[in-house]
Amino acid sequence: MAAGYRLSGLEAARLLREGVLDPEEYVAFISVRPREEVLRELRESLEKGRPLSGLVVAVKDNIHVRGLPVTCGSRMLSKYTAVYDATVVERLREQGAVVLGKTNMDEFAMGSTGETSAYGAARNPWSPDKVPGGSSSGTAVALAAGMAPMGLGSDTGGSIRLPASWTGLYGLKPTYGRVSRYGLVSYADSLEQIGPMARTVEDLAALFDAIAGFDPRDSTSLQAPASALETVKRAKEQGVEGMRIGLVREFLEHPGVDERIKRLVEAAADGLSRQGVEVVEVGLGAEAVEYALPAYYVIAMAEASSNLARYDGIRYGPGEPPRPWEGWNTYYSRIRSIYFGTEVKLRIMLGSWMLSSGYKDQYYIRALKLRRLVRDRLLEALRGLDVLLLPSAVAPPPRLGEVIGDPEKLYALDLANVLANLSGLPALVAPAGRVEDIPTGVQLMGAPMGDEKLLSLAAALEQETGLSNLVAEPTP
Ligand code: GLN
Repeated sequence: MAAGYRLSGLEAARLLREGVLDPEEYVAFISVRPREEVLRELRESLEKGRPLSGLVVAVKDNIHVRGLPVTCGSRMLSKYTAVYDATVVERLREQGAVVLGKTNMDEFAMGSTGETSAYGAARNPWSPDKVPGGSSSGTAVALAAGMAPMGLGSDTGGSIRLPASWTGLYGLKPTYGRVSRYGLVSYADSLEQIGPMARTVEDLAALFDAIAGFDPRDSTSLQAPASALETVKRAKEQGVEGMRIGLVREFLEHPGVDERIKRLVEAAADGLSRQGVEVVEVGLGAEAVEYALPAYYVIAMAEASSNLARYDGIRYGPGEPPRPWEGWNTYYSRIRSIYFGTEVKLRIMLGSWMLSSGYKDQYYIRALKLRRLVRDRLLEALRGLDVLLLPSAVAPPPRLGEVIGDPEKLYALDLANVLANLSGLPALVAPAGRVEDIPTGVQLMGAPMGDEKLLSLAAALEQETGLSNLVAEPTP
């Protein structure tokens, strides 16, 4: 289905005919459920009067929804249909929410722009020649274009926060362990969490409450039920006066952070201090910031090379039989060469190499040590503070095609986002102003289990900025 971006049918048709819009590049959803089916479920749920009756959600296409395809944005899984619900989906359905469909994403969640999807790159509804951000690109587009009110993404190294930052949305990467990953297709499981995306803080909190909580089917799951909506409502009534936030110095001085983004972070700090929040400057130390990105990419690629080994054409794959006398190894490598995209293959090869004996100590083990250093520095900086304030996206969104062929530029976009994944800390993105006419977000990062606190501060910021429930208007 075409994203529409709230274009009228005729207008979208005209842009498509004129070649301004490429059908392939205009997709927020990969699978949409039949309208009748969704309506029936919605009516049934409204009749039953469940806690979440009337909520409809878009779900990233790496999360299992029974009966729907789970493509992960890859040709490798184009024929794979989920036979069970992920725990997060099961919870949503039990409480009466209805799944609208599955949203486009970077292939196996590897990417920052949405462009590595085998199903075409989605565009930014605020500025269609720019990317929406990835890897949860389709969920972001669906929300920002008014096609769905809220949705699920996954965040291994910023994949919820980067697209939220570039499309005027609120997005939360929960504390590691608070949301079950049962039914999420693994990319790098020591880093990733499923999380909510929404246009308002209350929606974000409600969706978080709905999906969070202990799950015996995920061995990393924590015993920690969520009470975010209640906390947000209380914060709205009582204010956030007396909270203390730390403005992270390194990012305000960093040459890799666009000046306009720095101003945005400062504006958010000013906004929060007008609400009675105390703002202090804190430092993480240069190493923690400089080494986080390389450490992240080593660990993510190493885990990916292992997790993606299962796509061999037999256990999982396109269902193409081996040729007579082909031999298993030839068959595996033929299938994997054809059905994986370039970025995925690059990472599997680098990840395998980094784990090979002789290189393991130099790369993987070293990255694990740096990961520890990053976590220690963050926890130290958080001592005596409620949250840290820093950029999420470090630059405005690039144009389609601008960075995708250049891994260094592509990976550099994740500079400020990977810290939370390396350390397991919760992190939230909230829009703080406009850059190049696009509502753009900044990042709040908290101590473990500090998700509710992040949401309270986001609510204060939302009141201050008025950037709430933003939907992109059709472009002329
Ligand atoms: N851009 C990062 C990567 O490609 C993060 C992706 C994600 O969070 N899934 O690894």
